[in-house]
Amino acid sequence: MEKIGILTSGGDAPGMNAAIRAAVRAATSCGMAAVGYRDGYRGLLSNRAEELDDRTVGNILQRGGTMLGTSRCDDFLLAEARAAAASNLRDAGVGGLLVIGGDGSFRGALALASEHGVPVAGVPATIDNDVAGTEDTVGFDTAVNTAVLAIDQVRDTSESTGMMFFVEVMGRHSGMLALATGVAAGASGVLIPEARDELPQLVRRLRRSFELGKHSHIIVVAEGEEAGGAFAVAERIGKELDHPYRVVVLGHVQRGGRPTAHDRVLASEMGARAVLALASGRSGLMVAVRGARICEAPLGEGAQMAMAGHDLLALAQTLAG
Ligand code: ADP
Repeated sequence: MEKIGILTSGGDAPGMNAAIRAAVRAATSCGMAAVGYRDGYRGLLSNRAEELDDRTVGNILQRGGTMLGTSRCDDFLLAEARAAAASNLRDAGVGGLLVIGGDGSFRGALALASEHGVPVAGVPATIDNDVAGTEDTVGFDTAVNTAVLAIDQVRDTSESTGMMFFVEVMGRHSGMLALATGVAAGASGVLIPEARDELPQLVRRLRRSFELGKHSHIIVVAEGEEAGGAFAVAERIGKELDHPYRVVVLGHVQRGGRPTAHDRVLASEMGARAVLALASGRSGLMVAVRGARICEAPLGEGAQMAMAGHDLLALAQTLAG
């Protein structure tokens, strides 16, 4: 394979740039050229491509958003459009496509692969962490940290005034972002789409908490939660408890910003791995995180010093550009 194409698609996520950078530099190290398509599948359809090399992806590692732009492209749902995309790739000599995005973007990539034999690989990148088959996605850690920082600030006011705060976080149909945020921010309750009929239980817990004299109460509400979001939940619970409250909708504040170090490392590893897979002739795969779980281990193991893996050392050298 002499050239790969790269695009970012769906919602932007912090760390997409780090993935692009790693993919381009990994391609260079394999002797391949890289082109980036503008605005996801939309740019692939209209042939808006730019050459990417080690230098053009310099100084983007630390930036949120995506230098390639992203979009939701309804046309790509049509078979004729995907045929045009495959022919654009062929004409440009692009032998494999790296798609950085979420589950929807991967469905598009799979369709392109199955219908036209285009080799494809995916890097899961979404603040929602709602891609099946991987425990982590690029952007999730940054979004959780952003939401936690905001809640820490809101808590000062909750503690000082006694008001309850209902904080709505993103996540679309998934409660992953709300759960991680709730745990990290010490929320009194977390309402997510995956759990039904939680309101009566939450009201009981809050009532008991007031009786015990607790001052600050933060309830994290996932945007896709069944009662209809933070405003609806706040009105019901506020009325029932007859207690003053405020609503904070974090919205797109969570989507942007400098990626955390965790997301930069994850994106770098995933971007490079995906390109190496394409270069080795593999297709129809995404790079995933699996099996990271908390468990017990012998204390004697912990008494020894761990050494950094050679994989990461080699990666750092490859991506130095
Ligand atoms: P995400 O990738 O973040 O989940 P979307 O679900 O909006 O975001 O999908 C991004 C884009 O992927 C869509 O706008 C469309 O261009 C493409 N896509 C999604 N689903 C399909 C599908 N079933 N077939 C072809 N393309 C799809």
